[in-house]
Amino acid sequence: MRTNTENENSDSQRTQPVSVVTGGAGFLGSHLVDYLMDKGHRVIAIDNLITGSVENIIHLAGNDNFKFIKQDVTQYIFLSEKVDYVWHFASPASPIDYMEFPIQTLKVGSLGTHKALGLALRNRARFLLTSTSEIYGDPLRHPQSEDYWGNVNPVGPRACYDEAKRFAEAMTMAYQREHGLDTRIVRIFNTYGPRMRLKDGRVVPAFISQALSGEPLTIYGDGSQTRSFCYCSDLIEGIYRLMMSEHNCPVNIGNPNELSILQFARVILELTGAQLELVYKDLPMDDPKQRRPDITLARNLLQWEPRVELREGLKKTIEWFAGRPLEELKG
Ligand code: UDP
Repeated sequence: MRTNTENENSDSQRTQPVSVVTGGAGFLGSHLVDYLMDKGHRVIAIDNLITGSVENIIHLAGNDNFKFIKQDVTQYIFLSEKVDYVWHFASPASPIDYMEFPIQTLKVGSLGTHKALGLALRNRARFLLTSTSEIYGDPLRHPQSEDYWGNVNPVGPRACYDEAKRFAEAMTMAYQREHGLDTRIVRIFNTYGPRMRLKDGRVVPAFISQALSGEPLTIYGDGSQTRSFCYCSDLIEGIYRLMMSEHNCPVNIGNPNELSILQFARVILELTGAQLELVYKDLPMDDPKQRRPDITLARNLLQWEPRVELREGLKKTIEWFAGRPLEELKG
């Protein structure tokens, strides 16, 4: 295998693909980094660590095919080596995070996407934007297919994320049309798995950490709102296939197995063996009432569909959470 220095010095002869992953120390970004390393890529992860963690990539320290740069991607990204793929994963991604960092969320979706596109353009690299089911807002069409334009409150508390991602999609399409850049857009639906932050406020880490530490499960609203949860390895496989496909319009990647939050709470209690109360809290403003991806396009174009069953994925996630220190679990 070539060394790092050989790669940097002889771009014209290199065969190893080079990937940049923004948000590479985050939950999904770090899983993608591992996947790409297994595929033989040289990977450069960029992350400002406001919601990502070095802990997610520490196992790669010292690996010649991996480089970490601590940087905010809203600033100019300077890389001397030739890049083949830019995977733009950087963004706070839970309602608690984007309420704590609304301006950074807007900046990374807008300015950060612009910088990541600029990096791709300079290298004539292929670019993939991680967009979100949130661009459908509180959807009036169910399930959501890619041709639905959404129902988003532009001034509500979730707008910093939803509108930033809508802007990011528009910016990506403008680079494709104006500069002929080879771009991909994935719309990610609720995803879970090891490396989620215990305190990120999303329902999966919230319920699992509550169940493991013997606290009541907090149901927002009456729990009738629905979500469809996809295990992280399925999602990463779908995203990789999309990048390597020739499809340059948005594609939903998610698991269509839909359940209410109340049903989901019961599954967590069943799998952890916990016997705990449910406590009801106010539903946050603009919380979508229903969400389920239509994945016909992904099935047809990418021959992709999720394989990990909910209980199987949750068991792995619970096992990972159970290995965390107790003080991290407690609210
Ligand atoms: N939720 C809940 N209890 C919690 C955290 C979240 O009932 O402790 C609900 C939340 O109101 C939403 C659903 O679970 O209806 C999924 O929330 P999450 O923050 O995971 O993702 P998103 O709303 O972005 O889909």
